[in-house]
Amino acid sequence: MKDGFGREIDYMRISITDRCNLRCRYCMPEEISWVPMEEILTFEEIEVVVKEAATLGIKKIKVTGGEPLARIGCPTLVGMLKKVPGIEKVTLTTNGVFLSKYAEQLKEKGLDAVNISLDTLDEKRFEEITGRDELKAVLDGIETALELQIPVKINSVLQKGQNEKEWQALAELAHHKKLDVRFIEMMPIGYGKKFEPVYNEELLKKMEEKYGELKPDTRVHGNGPAIYYSVPGFEGSIGFISAIHGKFCKSCNRIRMTSTGDIKACLCFDESLSIKEALRAGDMEEVNHLLVLAISNKPVSHQFEQKEMITEQREMASIGG
Ligand code: SAM
Ligand code: SF4
Repeated sequence: MKDGFGREIDYMRISITDRCNLRCRYCMPEEISWVPMEEILTFEEIEVVVKEAATLGIKKIKVTGGEPLARIGCPTLVGMLKKVPGIEKVTLTTNGVFLSKYAEQLKEKGLDAVNISLDTLDEKRFEEITGRDELKAVLDGIETALELQIPVKINSVLQKGQNEKEWQALAELAHHKKLDVRFIEMMPIGYGKKFEPVYNEELLKKMEEKYGELKPDTRVHGNGPAIYYSVPGFEGSIGFISAIHGKFCKSCNRIRMTSTGDIKACLCFDESLSIKEALRAGDMEEVNHLLVLAISNKPVSHQFEQKEMITEQREMASIGG
């Protein structure tokens, strides 16, 4: 369905857990108190919401978290959502640590693509950024997904003074591997507020100095706001998700659901509608009504450029980045 500004909302990001096996410094650096399991929607409840959302025109689902593969049975959920009438694509965003273990099951259940977060190819820096020594597991996960021909996108967040110089090493992954590398500007959400982003405009300039003029690649690469470029000789493309300067709100097509069943229409604001009570009471009319309300009242745009306007206080891991 269309929101109040005429945008077609056909994409839903669903966080299935607030837990994670990594502690990325801009996302979940400290021990946080987990939401009790009984507050978290069961797979059956998520399936019911997706069935209802599909009647409103949601066609694409991204399963995220926290770390979605840290929740037992994630491939089963993927299979359940793939079977929902009207759902065309189910994809996953993961830190990749458990991917080699689950990739085959995910493929079997029909996963359409995977986004793997990776900010560095240096072991020591990986540990500094994520709090864990797991780079090798992530690289194995990437290889396993590629071998199984699951389309792969790498998501990299660059931080000033930390991994900013690694853009080339990360971009080079798309040189000889059939995957896209996307640079996501750090957003001032949760712990992300404490870090200075590397702006994609600057990065594009550096890339053009290195590789010559980059040609926009207008093929459809996925669900989202990334702008892609092809680099001569590269198998994959380079994408930029520029939340701050390249404000992409005009073409925003998404809503989010947190692991506890809060429907959020925009990352920037703390407004959300809790669907859990209606869901658990079996009141499908109310579930439908809340989804319609969230979509209809989706804000026209985020206000990340004006920090005082950002009302969302939760960390990215509990919202579902
Ligand atoms: N654990 C999974 C992962 O890391 O891909 C899924 C959840 S994680 C919250 C999803 C994405 O959000 C990751 O690519 C992560 O780098 C990104 N992210 C987290 N905090 C962010 C922030 N403040 N700004 C931009 N991206 C952020
Ligand atoms: Fe975990 Fe993903 Fe957040 Fe890192 S970015 S702490 S992997 S949820």
